[in-house]
Amino acid sequence: MRTTTIALTLVALLCACTREPAHLSADLVVRNGDLRTMSATNPRATALAVLAGSIAYVGDDAGVAAWIGTGTKVIDAGGHTVLPGLIDSHIHAAEGALALGGCTLHNEELTIAQAADAIRACVAADKTSTWIVVNEVNPAGFKASAQELDAIEKQRALFLWGTDGHTAWVNTRALELAGITRTTADPAAGRIERDPRGDATGFLVDGATSLALDVMDKPSQAKRLDALRSVLPKLHAVGITSFLEANTDEPTVDAYAELARLGQLDARVTIAFESSAENEPSEFQRLEAQRAKLAGNPLFRPDFIKVMADGVMEHPTQTAALLAPYNDAKGKPGKSTGKLYLAPADLVAFVQEAQKRAFNVHVHAIGDAAVRETLDAFAAARAAGSTQLLSISHLQLIDPADLPRFAALRVQPSLQLLWAQPDNYSIDALTPWIGAERMGRQYPARSLIAAGADVAGGSDWDVSSFNPFEAIATAMSRKNPKEPERPPLVATEAVTLDQMLAAYTLNSARMIGRDREIGSLESGKQADFIVLDRTYDDETTADEVRVTRPTSVYFAGRDVTPASD
Ligand SMILES: [Zn+2]
Repeated sequence: MRTTTIALTLVALLCACTREPAHLSADLVVRNGDLRTMSATNPRATALAVLAGSIAYVGDDAGVAAWIGTGTKVIDAGGHTVLPGLIDSHIHAAEGALALGGCTLHNEELTIAQAADAIRACVAADKTSTWIVVNEVNPAGFKASAQELDAIEKQRALFLWGTDGHTAWVNTRALELAGITRTTADPAAGRIERDPRGDATGFLVDGATSLALDVMDKPSQAKRLDALRSVLPKLHAVGITSFLEANTDEPTVDAYAELARLGQLDARVTIAFESSAENEPSEFQRLEAQRAKLAGNPLFRPDFIKVMADGVMEHPTQTAALLAPYNDAKGKPGKSTGKLYLAPADLVAFVQEAQKRAFNVHVHAIGDAAVRETLDAFAAARAAGSTQLLSISHLQLIDPADLPRFAALRVQPSLQLLWAQPDNYSIDALTPWIGAERMGRQYPARSLIAAGADVAGGSDWDVSSFNPFEAIATAMSRKNPKEPERPPLVATEAVTLDQMLAAYTLNSARMIGRDREIGSLESGKQADFIVLDRTYDDETTADEVRVTRPTSVYFAGRDVTPASD
């Protein structure tokens, strides 16, 4: 009798288990949502449950009911779209955070005469700094000589920073402090523009900007920490909960480590370390020491190295490396093909040494020659057995023959598709210089996807806005809302909303090797998700996407929705 009772009880328990699993009640439940899970097996759902920071259930409203207990917070999503927390696969969050609130020309198209008053105001507002930095100078077609800047400020160093992060204009005092004279050689990865007499004009490109940046007063660690702390809610406000910090220096590593130690890092940060890409033991030892500082905290993945393969394509900088020469201003073929910043054999060796030391590689490549060089180096690495995560960012121009190599070599493209709009960068600063055929191949998002590539989304902020919805809208429309009269930029390369939602979630998670943690709404993954202010459907237009805002943002199951301002 006794035995029978136990057996019956066991049967009853087992039955209960199969019907309704015995589990704890959830901390949080979302129901009545339009969940875009990004899961191949279960792409749409209406509800999810969160337990201890992870997703415990994804399914329908009836199924989630069993997860609701007395202590469960229940959110009615009102039928709105719910997405995994967005992932920016290429951003300079720490650097951008430091520039926030600083002096800026707002990327407006200005001549130096038009900008002079604003620059004077910057100088007047800062009575103490040795260096006056003016951010967001629209570089396409901008010209300012050291003498013109001297007329605005002579005593202190003036540094006008191009929005592209590759160009700077400085006054004579800045040239002096940076130690730039007529005998200073161009750095390997940069150019000091000179007049016919050989004197520096004040225009510095790529690595030459570092000659000035390296001697500037550095922000204090307290300032860096404050900046980082203040930028996270701004990222959350547009749905970003994870990102690849695309060129991280040592003070930034320290700031992240401190923010995490204080328990204030509400984001998953993947670190790509800034590197000269010199294949020297000392360089790798430096990188390993940085990596060790962030080891052990699961919010970080600190094992990527960022490498610069070339510069930018726009006139007058033209440091992107092209397979065929730039044209002259009349559209006739010129002599320069731009600049590969690393010799191909050196890049091959560096990538393979990185594999030996368990680093992944993320490369900046804009021109088709730099893209090919990088793919060649990655092909050599794969042939030697590389299991690294390999990715290339920007990819403004890709030779069609190289498109299938991304899928074949498991190389992920990180595209900044907010740039795929017609404006003074993509049209005016390029048209005569790269010619119609290459103009028609800019930012080939659709071609990459058609060739099987796993396209990831990214902003490159503070080069341009980090708002993913603006980039997604531009990728769909290839239009510029500020200049609606311009035709779309290569309309045939437009992609769909679904493709872009994947780009900012699961594809970016794969690129940074965190797709087991994040990137989709699936049981066992981290509870990073956002609820939008609307419901997306097949009719959703780019204009609607552009103005989308998340109304709720959850990180590890915690509500991190910033107070709206
Ligand atoms: Zn970048």
